[in-house]
Amino acid sequence: MSAKRIGPRDDLALMEGYHSPQVDVAVRLNTNESPYPPPAAFGERLAAAVADVQWHRYPDRAAVELRTRIGALHGVGRDSVFAANGSNEVLQTLLLTYAGFGRTVATFEPTYALHAHIARLCGAGVIEGERDDNFVLHLDEIDRVLAEGDPRVLFLCSPNNPTGREEPRDLVEAVLDRMTDRGGLLVVDEAYGQFASWSAVDLITEDTPLVVTRTYSKTWSMAAARLGYLVGPRWVVAELDKVVLPYHLDVLKQRAGVIALDLAQDMEHRVAAVVAERDRVLGELADLAVDVWPSGANFVLFRPQRRSGPEVWNSLLAHGVLVRNCASWPRLDGCLRVTIGTPAEDDEFLAALKEAL
Ligand code: PMP
Repeated sequence: MSAKRIGPRDDLALMEGYHSPQVDVAVRLNTNESPYPPPAAFGERLAAAVADVQWHRYPDRAAVELRTRIGALHGVGRDSVFAANGSNEVLQTLLLTYAGFGRTVATFEPTYALHAHIARLCGAGVIEGERDDNFVLHLDEIDRVLAEGDPRVLFLCSPNNPTGREEPRDLVEAVLDRMTDRGGLLVVDEAYGQFASWSAVDLITEDTPLVVTRTYSKTWSMAAARLGYLVGPRWVVAELDKVVLPYHLDVLKQRAGVIALDLAQDMEHRVAAVVAERDRVLGELADLAVDVWPSGANFVLFRPQRRSGPEVWNSLLAHGVLVRNCASWPRLDGCLRVTIGTPAEDDEFLAALKEAL
């Protein structure tokens, strides 16, 4: 008897997974991580915390200490904070709660691919708005998407991955007004928010449908730990708490998140160093044969003018430098994205790029 093999849901059958190729090279500038490990005190204190864990007990389900401390960082109470395993899980929980079958989610492309991907996994429809050729988002395009798609959830990403641009405050305010009138939810993904010139966290009130997502992966040098959060109105956080799996945040991760906040000053020095390096790299790229766009993040998007993106990507790789190859992504024809590294790594990248161009 031949066995029948079950397939995935019909609506998922043609979907592709998320790809981020990892190659073993000396200079890895492809996934927007921090180039610096956390301070030594972080590891020491986490090791001490391991000894204290009651392994036979479930963790604090409400993650009270972690949420209280994150809230204090942003001047809100813990009931305004939702934390999960990476901001990806925060996004997933948001979409499970507010998207799903029969609802539409709006994204403005090119942007972080997981917004549309998770929305589709949750069964929602996706309406894709466009940016102009310089990756600037205009309000009339947002109005078109609102009129055509009537989305329940609208994503902005500021600074935007992979373009690096920040959305201006007046644009975010205008979108928030519209989503408030329509009874929708505005999600501002600030995974790179600490590198930027402003934050939409200041716009959050109990009366507006705005949440801002953040991650420990970049600023806090903790990509390995998988910890992210959002700040938003208490009524949103209460709904998310119902949807997320019980005890989703393990006890060590909760401790790690608090210890990192104890070391906030060290972490902020790392951010300042990365921002200074980003501005140096932007300045150097301006003198080379590449198109380059402004960045408020810890990465820079650029397009070689005389050689193709893949040719330059391969040449960089041959010099032991890995950047993200976006050349074949829709709307990013020929573009590459480089994460800001240490000054020495960035020098290696710049030297290899000069040869590659
Ligand atoms: N949002 C954006 C815009 C990102 O670029 C990333 C990481 N690539 C994430 C969210 C997810 O970050 P994490 O799950 O590591 O918190």
